[in-house]
Amino acid sequence: MKHAIAVWFRTDLRIADNSLLIEAAERALERNIPLHCVYCIDPREFGPSEHLGLPRTGPFRARFLLESLAALDASLRNLGSALLIRRGCPHEVLGKLAREEGWTDLYFHRLVGTEEASAERRVVKSMGESGVEVRSWRQRTLHDEYPFEVAATPRVFSAFRKVVEKELTFAAPVEAPTSLPGPGDTERGELPTLEELGASDTLPDKRAVIVFRGGEPSALQRLSRFIEGGHLRTYKETRNGLVGADYSSKLAPWLALGCISCRTIQAAVAEHEALHGANDSTYWMTFELLWRDYFTLILAKHGGEVFRPEGLQGIPVPWERDLDAFEAWRTGQTGFPLVDANMRELLLTGFMGNRGRQNVGSFLTKNLGIDWRLGAEWFEIQLVDYDVASNYGNWNYTAGVGNDARGFRYFHIPKQAGMYDGEGRHARLWLPELGGLPGGEVHTPWELATETLRQAGVTLGTDYPHPMVDLEASQRRQRASWEGAMASQKKR
Ligand SMILES: Cc1cc2nc3c(=O)[nH]c(=O)nc-3n(C[C@H](O)[C@H](O)[C@H](O)COP(=O)(O)OP(=O)(O)OC[C@H]3O[C@@H](n4cnc5c(N)ncnc54)[C@H](O)[C@@H]3O)c2cc1C
Repeated sequence: MKHAIAVWFRTDLRIADNSLLIEAAERALERNIPLHCVYCIDPREFGPSEHLGLPRTGPFRARFLLESLAALDASLRNLGSALLIRRGCPHEVLGKLAREEGWTDLYFHRLVGTEEASAERRVVKSMGESGVEVRSWRQRTLHDEYPFEVAATPRVFSAFRKVVEKELTFAAPVEAPTSLPGPGDTERGELPTLEELGASDTLPDKRAVIVFRGGEPSALQRLSRFIEGGHLRTYKETRNGLVGADYSSKLAPWLALGCISCRTIQAAVAEHEALHGANDSTYWMTFELLWRDYFTLILAKHGGEVFRPEGLQGIPVPWERDLDAFEAWRTGQTGFPLVDANMRELLLTGFMGNRGRQNVGSFLTKNLGIDWRLGAEWFEIQLVDYDVASNYGNWNYTAGVGNDARGFRYFHIPKQAGMYDGEGRHARLWLPELGGLPGGEVHTPWELATETLRQAGVTLGTDYPHPMVDLEASQRRQRASWEGAMASQKKR
């Protein structure tokens, strides 16, 4: 009779700071039985998206996932193990393996997404039917335990941060194992190709901020380049940047798939502070990682409410569904260079900086009044760092239906462009048709004299679109609509 212990890898594609892998390996060693490290490629994650009907995992994220799986397999093989790749719904795939291989225990990290939690419930049920012991815990955040129940997570971020900073110390990452029990004679399975996943083999544009290569070794390299290059020390001043590799850490894609844990990043920040001293910037990295924790807990607390049009606050904003306007936004053809440059960067590379995300999100919801879920879904498809809690949490916020204490928060696009791309470098990088317009003027082509446009070889309406809305009038209309929705919510 065969026996084995199994680890179901999910968004934790690493060997360092993986207490689950260590415990499973110890148990397999004690019993002298194989350890099966399994990843399920779930076809539902590659099927059509709910609102746009596009493949849910776009080409950049699909490529990053395959690279991360290949890297995990290589690391496991170095330790005497290997990654077993299977395709299908997890409860079916794992249920079949459990029966055939005589699994005694299954280890996995619990996730906060509603689909992820539902997949877990089905896996647990299927393991129960085969008599397999399930051992699962969460390990996504900086802290093991929070000083409140999930349901009592503070409503706003600043209250959450204050409690956490007062009461908690960070959990230290655990070392990577130095060897692992082998997988026995079980078939390894093959990684699919991008085409088999329904994703096109698109390479990111050469103007991309960095080359995002999936996998734990690349994540660790990026972390040390960011810190050793001195960029952590100036992060607070540079983090709203738009051009270049080092204005922010760019670690989000690796965090999203768990190629690196936030605790490993936090430990590297602390080590740097111990050697060179702390400053506002080193603290700010911890502060941003706390935002990630906060959105994780918010999703755990609110569940499905985070995905509804009225958001977790239940504000019944009458969103528009103008698909032509949405398409102009999606493809970077709105006539507002700050929005268009960022949207084209996302379309062509799978990444956009945080300042860009806030602006394009504000424009979609506060000027065009379009259902924020369309924007969130496009981000889900396209972002190489897509993460359900951070994406849907931030979109709730941006759309004004999340826990934002500041009411109708609207970004004035040309003002933001002046503050964050004053020289127009980002706009000219992504909008070559405006390349002849000098300095920050590139952000307001509609204000320029015909002669200036002519000299720059730009004809508005032909080379580059006229602005698709009047910024002030559209935000006033949307503000009134949002305030009406707030008032009707209070009456209920
Ligand atoms: C509308 C919108 C959608 C977003 N969708 C995602 C998403 O799907 N996945 C994602 O990881 N982030 C998302 N963010 C948050 C943020 O924009 C990205 O984490 C950040 O731009 C990634 O770049 P970085 O790794 O260089 O970040 P850095 O500035 O270097 O920050 C370090 C880390 O802190 C965390 N972090 C920073 N800002 C935030 C934030 N606002 N919310 C949560 N975590 C944060 C991330 O893990 C990030 O990697 C979204 C923001 C907005 C406004």
